Amino acid sequence: MKIIVQKFGGTSVSTQERRKLVVQKVMSAINEGYKPIVVVSAMGRSGEPYATDTLLSLIDKDFKETNKRASDLLMCCGEIISTVIMSNELKKSKIAAVPVTGGQAGIITDDNYSNAAVKYVKPENLLKLLSDNEIPVVAGFQGKSENGFFTTLGRGGSDVTASLIGCAVKAEKIEIYTDVDGIMTADPRIVKDAALIENISYNEVFEFAEQGAKVIHPRAVEVAMNGNVPLLIKNTLSDCPGTLINREGSILNKSLITGITSLSGRVQVITKFKNAKIKSSDFLNMLALKNINIDLINVFPKENIFTIDNKDLNKLNSILSKTDLNYSLENNCSKIAIIGSRICGVPGVMARILKAITKEGIEVLQTADSHSTIWCLVKSDFEGQVIKALHREFNLNNK
Ligand code: ADP
Ligand code: MG
Repeated sequence: MKIIVQKFGGTSVSTQERRKLVVQKVMSAINEGYKPIVVVSAMGRSGEPYATDTLLSLIDKDFKETNKRASDLLMCCGEIISTVIMSNELKKSKIAAVPVTGGQAGIITDDNYSNAAVKYVKPENLLKLLSDNEIPVVAGFQGKSENGFFTTLGRGGSDVTASLIGCAVKAEKIEIYTDVDGIMTADPRIVKDAALIENISYNEVFEFAEQGAKVIHPRAVEVAMNGNVPLLIKNTLSDCPGTLINREGSILNKSLITGITSLSGRVQVITKFKNAKIKSSDFLNMLALKNINIDLINVFPKENIFTIDNKDLNKLNSILSKTDLNYSLENNCSKIAIIGSRICGVPGVMARILKAITKEGIEVLQTADSHSTIWCLVKSDFEGQVIKALHREFNLNNK
């Protein structure tokens, strides 16, 4: 059986016009001899009637936080509605489709509501439907705990559903349909002339996703990589071939930088240990005990510099108030990631980056680098300007 998984994001299923385009993509796969499994997100984006954020706004914040099981159940509804409506649309084109929840699709998770970890996937139900010539339309972003309760897999979790299912049924490929032509050298909403990346390796795209490119969930990349199933990012609204993600990536691509992405909502923390009783390692340990993730970490004999996510600011302030540290905070920062597996060992890349940013009159607050990524911290007000300047500096639109 030649199986394909086709996942359609919120914007792809938001209107009837678009759902007709979804049917065409499913039909093309059938005509190519595939047995498709369709995965859908909730219809539309925040503010639209059946989007997950809209459903969540129907319950009190307090109730939501203290009744995680109930809010997970509510959060599953958007996708379930989508499965039924999409099945209806497929039926209209004489395609036999069966809507299924994540649990019915065999996704079994722990009971860490709102961010459940997948324990295993039992693909029997899906395989049975396929062998009966029926197309499963699976609700993305959700699973079922071993006790049978609905759980959700965290933001962007429908991509993860597609990868989990693709690996469990040994699909030939997993197609992720969205509202852009594929993975671009930068977010096309920021850089209008961003170029399509035709081939990219799992590793590089994981870096992209981890560093803020919303186009695919990092965990979905990891799952597909472990199962060695190729991922394709495609546009529901066009026939563009999209981006192919596999182990090899682009062997022909000689470009130094693959792309640029960013994460906003960062706070830079500078702590000074001169005359303080507390030791640097003890302070970092206090942060770890409160589950505060830190990054861009620079440890010096007399000071530490790092960044945290804005959401952890209250926790950080309460820890700082218990110490005798001198500190300063820089709010509203963005971490720009310049990604390219070929930057390793090439001299002068950092110099070009700094020159391009400072030429714009923008201050770089901090930098860090790994074998495949260089990070620069800047004030969020300049995030778009910095991305555009770097995109120009490395000629990313001329690929
Ligand atoms: P879906 O609802 O289909 O899952 P998402 O909003 O999660 O769609 O992801 C698609 C969006 O990701 C695009 O509209 C685009 O603005 C954004 N994006 C961010 N970085 C990139 C990038 N490097 N390449 C392509 N799209 C990107
Ligand atoms: Mg998405």
